[in-house]
Amino acid sequence: MAALSVPQKLEILADAAKYDASCASSGTKKRDSASGRKGGLGSTEGMGICHAYAPDGRCISLLKILLTNSCIFDCHYCINRRSSDVRRARFTVQEVVDLTLNFYRRNYIEGLFLSSGIIRSSDYTMEQLVQVARTLREEHDFRGYIHLKTIPDADPDLSHQAGLYADRLSINVELPTAQGLQRLAPEKNASRIEGAMAGMRSAMEDMGDARRKYRNAPRFAPAGQSTQMIVGADGADDRAIIRRARSLYDRHALRRVYYSAFSPIPSPSSVLPLKRPPLLREHRLYQSDWMMRFYGFSADDLEAATDPDSGCLPLDIDPKLAWALRHRGMFPVDVNRAPREALLRVPGLGVKAVDRILASRRLRRLRLDDVARLTTSITKLRPFLIASDWRPVHLTDRIDLKRSLGPAPSQLELFA
Ligand code: SF4
Repeated sequence: MAALSVPQKLEILADAAKYDASCASSGTKKRDSASGRKGGLGSTEGMGICHAYAPDGRCISLLKILLTNSCIFDCHYCINRRSSDVRRARFTVQEVVDLTLNFYRRNYIEGLFLSSGIIRSSDYTMEQLVQVARTLREEHDFRGYIHLKTIPDADPDLSHQAGLYADRLSINVELPTAQGLQRLAPEKNASRIEGAMAGMRSAMEDMGDARRKYRNAPRFAPAGQSTQMIVGADGADDRAIIRRARSLYDRHALRRVYYSAFSPIPSPSSVLPLKRPPLLREHRLYQSDWMMRFYGFSADDLEAATDPDSGCLPLDIDPKLAWALRHRGMFPVDVNRAPREALLRVPGLGVKAVDRILASRRLRRLRLDDVARLTTSITKLRPFLIASDWRPVHLTDRIDLKRSLGPAPSQLELFA
């Protein structure tokens, strides 16, 4: 590996880390000052600093880098795989520590997100990651946020040490099914990945018990564990992805499952699809995940919202509306009497709006205008709600209900 300066390494290793969605901000257009008419200021494409939410709900900036993009594994979907023809770089432990401290002191970041390709062995790589976190915490008394990617095959003692220094740990399941993992990442193993997650969960519970008994017992990954699934690289449909996510939440008490639409990489392996899945598919999966975590929907409910042929969530309408259109018999619900769980199932009503409705209806009976003031848009709600002055007549029976609530059709561009 040619000798590179720290800024050169930073350029390579921050760019290489962008494929990990675990703390990504997304949904904006590519834009940078170089393409502006007068130069301008800023860029939406710059890598290296990403935003994440801390356990207390604050949005924080993290230095997001890899320790190295060299890897002894050859996962087909990964730009850093052994057979990939990319520029390689590797930070030393001290370089990562110095960068984190310098950026922190300049107020650029509030923490570090550190991942790595596998160098020499899983244990060696994990030792290096732990060494970064230990040096920051013990030698520099670093109080910022640390998110470490954990190598599933590493010695559990090393993962345990990682939990003593990091706020959050994550282990990527990578693909929704064990078969997909075997085909696209043959050196990885689904049961070893889940075994590592189970170990992490029990360590978190043990340390939580210890802290309840002894105030000075050490904390262990207080921000919990998370994972990431790549969407669209194998043939798994949304039903399989939703079921896997539900089972990961239940069995390993994950804080978050992140979904990352597979993006074609330079010099791709021939077993990968040529086209990326629509980004909207990733968005619909995040919506379905939100519905499971905050709206009380089960994996079976969400399966009922998928298309029977493709097994995927519709792209033209959100999964909550898709579910409601398939369960019209459960609507309309009375905004003045329905329980919280029934209101949360109404398309267009979010958790905050439902809580506002519940608080307001204690004081008086709500009219449709009142509901409109408590929510962002009443149009989508009207067919599904009864208010003191409003009862939709056969609205949920209309065969064109989906068309009337979905996005307006648009003319396709001839040269798009
Ligand atoms: S182990 Fe990680 S870094 Fe290495 S090829 Fe697989 S996904 Fe890429």
